[in-house]
Amino acid sequence: MNLILLGAPGAGKGTQAMKIAERYGLVHISTGDIFRENIRNGTPIGNLAKSYLDKGELVPDEVTCEIVKDRLARPDVRNGYLLDGFPRNLYQAAALDTFAKIDGVININIDQSLLLERICGRRTCKQCGEIYHVSMLNGAENCPRCGGELFQRKDDNPETVASRLNVYNEQTAPLIDYYTKKGLILNFTGTEAPAEVLFEEIRSALDGLGKRP
Ligand code: AMP
Repeated sequence: MNLILLGAPGAGKGTQAMKIAERYGLVHISTGDIFRENIRNGTPIGNLAKSYLDKGELVPDEVTCEIVKDRLARPDVRNGYLLDGFPRNLYQAAALDTFAKIDGVININIDQSLLLERICGRRTCKQCGEIYHVSMLNGAENCPRCGGELFQRKDDNPETVASRLNVYNEQTAPLIDYYTKKGLILNFTGTEAPAEVLFEEIRSALDGLGKRP
């Protein structure tokens, strides 16, 4: 099963992606994570991507599409993958159509007035990748699950978040229509309900998808 995860920044894609990938044995491919890793390692791709991430803008399409195409050519994706953060616009979606066969698109809708607070309070574990909100941590500086160090993403600040939301509304939101017309969209509401509740809804829809003729 090859899936795409769509949703505004802060809609809870990262948390759901980890759960979905684990449940269905899919390879989780996050273009944001790939760029952040390249930036950490000082690679040519990282050096190019850094200024775009810092401003909350999209890394150029040709570079991004090439990275995903190469990643999907690796043998470990044979049993399925989950694309998280790709495609981000219609150009990337059209490119993806030329080298991938997608079975479903999970779209997490969210009230955007909730997002700023949600994103700016986000903390991620360096070790296991678990994502928290500061309000859940009671001042803890380490991951309650594995003890790893928690960090705040550099682009999780009010200015960059505003730019990321603009990019989402102008460039990424049209993909909902694009995949609805292809009959691939699965819509969910990412409210303040616990992540487990949303995951149960997604799981039930994906189990149905697997049974389609
Ligand atoms: P994310 O972790 O998905 O929120 O992505 C963080 C940042 O990485 C974005 O704000 C972009 O600068 C960059 N990025 C991630 N995915 C893409 C993509 N598909 N196309 C272009 N830029 C991307």
